[in-house]
Amino acid sequence: MPGIPMRILIVGGGIMGLSCAWRLAQSRCQVTLLEQRDCGGGATHASLGALWPPSPLADGPLQKLHRQSLSQMESFLTELAADSALPIPLRRGGRLEFLLDPDALTRATQEAPLGHPGITFTPALPGPILEILSPDQIRTLEPLVDPTHLHALHCRFTAQVDVAALIAALTAACLRRGVTILEQTPVDRLTLADLSFTVHTAGASGPRDLTADRLLITAGAWTAQLDPLLQRFAPTRPAKGQALMLATPQPLISHIVKRGTTYLVPWQDHILVGSTTEPEAGFDESTVPAAIETLRQDAIAILPALASAPVVRSWAGLRPDAPKHRPIMGPIPGHPQVFVCAGHYKTGIGMSPLVSRLIADFLTTGIVPPQLADFLPRDRPPRSLHSARR
Ligand SMILES: Cc1cc2nc3c(=O)[nH]c(=O)nc-3n(C[C@H](O)[C@H](O)[C@H](O)COP(=O)(O)OP(=O)(O)OC[C@H]3O[C@@H](n4cnc5c(N)ncnc54)[C@H](O)[C@@H]3O)c2cc1C
Repeated sequence: MPGIPMRILIVGGGIMGLSCAWRLAQSRCQVTLLEQRDCGGGATHASLGALWPPSPLADGPLQKLHRQSLSQMESFLTELAADSALPIPLRRGGRLEFLLDPDALTRATQEAPLGHPGITFTPALPGPILEILSPDQIRTLEPLVDPTHLHALHCRFTAQVDVAALIAALTAACLRRGVTILEQTPVDRLTLADLSFTVHTAGASGPRDLTADRLLITAGAWTAQLDPLLQRFAPTRPAKGQALMLATPQPLISHIVKRGTTYLVPWQDHILVGSTTEPEAGFDESTVPAAIETLRQDAIAILPALASAPVVRSWAGLRPDAPKHRPIMGPIPGHPQVFVCAGHYKTGIGMSPLVSRLIADFLTTGIVPPQLADFLPRDRPPRSLHSARR
């Protein structure tokens, strides 16, 4: 006889909230998800969907988690497509990253022979996982890109996923598995007692107080604003990013191409151009015409054929940042029924396959998954907050 299902409330319907809701519903939990906008309406819809492995020279717990998650992306998308009956396009085109100075070339020379150990992924074309390309080799791969005498690091393991399709599929799969999704339902505040909690919402149907067996906060950059305890143990903050989409008459590139901080992500009849990183902008989600024009000019410098490409749209989103750019995942000390999963900064889409599974296991069993041991919420002295910048 199956027992009584665990009741779980989730605050925030971005990639983290939705993917955790799906995994929890698969584990027979009774899940209600509260989202102040429409699902995906935070950082997630601003994302360019690039799935970009960390440098093989970095091998800390965060990079290990990221690699393991990227390795699960293909099976995650296959399972989700089957569960939602919706397609989720994934392009496995790879990436070219220009090496702008001798230090970058030296670093790439150390990286290339290592490949990406620990990542399993199906690239579009066979060949070395990481290799340094000369300007002539770049022209062969991408004839319209201007290499301006530079070398580039070619990574066959970089891909991109259609984020809008991913969110649509997660939403559909959650609904099919009985998750209650309440959009346009902001959570005003929480009341946290030692072993219980109340979530106070103000949706279209008026104020409501909700409770459950467990609470999972996946409110992205807004997480710390929900309660002083979250400010203390999960001090997230926003790192604004602006981006734009250019229409192209036909596909101009097949790889993601990066030069400096600007990168081009190809889709069929358009190219996404990302992105600024503006932690000083706070919670401002407006686009700034001068910043968008700078990104456009940077894109033209990489791919001159974009000079005549019309801007389809531009947007801004708030990446959830956290001290040292490390996500915070696990229960709030003293409140074992209240979990946080936030602060995935620039890699939330790539992290979602593994993190959602680990959080669902952790929340339902109470056993800390070893991969999350380094990311548990903990007290941080104010001086250490946001001390390191990428
Ligand atoms: C320009 C840009 C480009 C990016 N490109 C990439 C990329 O290529 N690859 C990649 O992996 N990542 C990328 N990212 C990062 C990625 O978007 C984030 O890491 C990820 O979306 C974070 O997901 P999340 O669910 O934690 O946060 P969010 O998507 O922000 O979700 C949090 C949700 O909580 C809701 N919420 C907040 N407060 C409340 C409340 N009080 N009540 C109810 N709901 C609430 C919000 O409305 C929001 O929908 C990019 C980000 C930006 C801005």
